[in-house]
Amino acid sequence: MNTINYGRQTVDESDIKAVLDTLTSDYLTQGPQVSLFEQSITKTCSSQHAIAFNSATSALHCACLALDLKPGDTLWTTPITFVASANCARYCGAEVDFVDIDPDTYNLCPSALLKKIQEAEKKGALPKIIVVVHLCGQPCDMKKISKIATAYNIKVIEDASHALGARYQNHPIGDCKYSDITIFSFHPVKIITSAEGGMATTNQIELAKKMRLAASHGITRSSEEMIGKHEEPWFYEQISLGYNYRMSDIHAALGNSQLKRLSSFINERQRIADTYNTELSTLPIKLPLIEPDCLSAYHLYVIRVDKQTRMALYEHLKNNGVLTNVHYIPVHLQPYYKKLGFKKGDYPNAEKYYEEALTLPIYPSLTKEQLNTVIQLIKQVL
Ligand SMILES: *Cc1c(COP(=O)(O)O)cnc(C)c1O
Repeated sequence: MNTINYGRQTVDESDIKAVLDTLTSDYLTQGPQVSLFEQSITKTCSSQHAIAFNSATSALHCACLALDLKPGDTLWTTPITFVASANCARYCGAEVDFVDIDPDTYNLCPSALLKKIQEAEKKGALPKIIVVVHLCGQPCDMKKISKIATAYNIKVIEDASHALGARYQNHPIGDCKYSDITIFSFHPVKIITSAEGGMATTNQIELAKKMRLAASHGITRSSEEMIGKHEEPWFYEQISLGYNYRMSDIHAALGNSQLKRLSSFINERQRIADTYNTELSTLPIKLPLIEPDCLSAYHLYVIRVDKQTRMALYEHLKNNGVLTNVHYIPVHLQPYYKKLGFKKGDYPNAEKYYEEALTLPIYPSLTKEQLNTVIQLIKQVL
C-alpha cells in the first residue's frame, strides 16, 4: 500500500539535471546558483533584495538580528505556527509573547493585536517586532496589521514559509509592502523546495546588508563596509559576530529549477483545494475560509470537525494509508514555552482550533485517484 502524506516534494527530471550539472561545476557553494536564486526570488516577489539562507529558521534569526532584537526586547507572534517563528526571538535573548488567532482565517487577529498593544503601551511594554505567519498559504490582513505596527513604531516580519506565490490585494507576498522583511522556507513539504533552504526579502538596503553579514560569519569583503584601509587585495574583515547560515549552490540549483514551475505548482494546489471544497461541502466540516482579497498558495488544506470526529477521521485515514497531520500544536503549550510561564487557557481561539483541525493531503503530484481515495475515506466516516 502506497502511503499518501499531507505534503511532499514534486521533483522531476529537470530538477535532477540541474543538481547534477552543479555537482560537476566549479562551485558547490558560494557560486552562481545562489545569486541566480536570489535574483529570481526578487523578480517573483517584486522585492528590492533577497538573501539566501540554509533554512527559514536561520533567515528568521538573522531578520531579528538585523532589526536589532536584543535581551530585554519582546517579539510577538501567533501561537498557531511552527515553533521557529517564536524561537528566533529566543536566539537573540529576547522574550516571546503571543497574539490569539482569528477564529475564521486562523491567522493572527488584527483586533486582538490592537487590544494587546493598547494594554502593553500602558505598561510601557511594547514589542519590538511582530512576526505574522501566512498560515496554510493564506495572507494575513497585512494592511490592518501594518497600520497598527506603524502607529506604535513596531517592526513587522512576515513568516511566509507557507506562502511563496500567494497574493494579497493583488500584490505578491514577499514584496514587503506592509512589512520590513519577509521569510520563505524551501523545506520539501513547502511550495517549492531546495531540500533545506530559506530566503529573506526586503526593500531596505541596510537590513539586506545586515542579514547578509550575519549569514556569513560577520565577514565583509566590501571596502565601504570595512573598518580599516587595506592594500592587500585578498583582505577581508570580520566586523561583527555572524554565523555560517549560507545556502549551497547544490541546494540553490534545485531551488532555481523548482521556481520555474511555481505557477503550475500553485495551480495544482488550487485544483486540489477546489475539489475538496466541492466534494466536502455538504458534510459537517468547516472548510478553509479564503478572504476575497487573498490568493492562497494552499501549502496546507486544513478542515475543522469536532474533537471526536477528528480522531476518528485521523485513525480511519491512517489505517487506509493516508497520513494526515495537525498544524499546529499551539507553540505556547510546548514544554519549553510552558516553562517560560505560558499555560492552557492563554489563547482560547488557538486552543479551540487545535482541538478540531486536521490537515488533508495537498501537493502538486497528488493524483486524481489518490485525491478521490482521500475524499471517499472521509465520506465513510462522516
Ligand atoms: C517550515 C516553517 C519554518 C521553518 O522552515 P525551515 O526552512 O525548515 O527552517 C518556519 N516557519 C513556518 C511557519 C514554517 O512552516
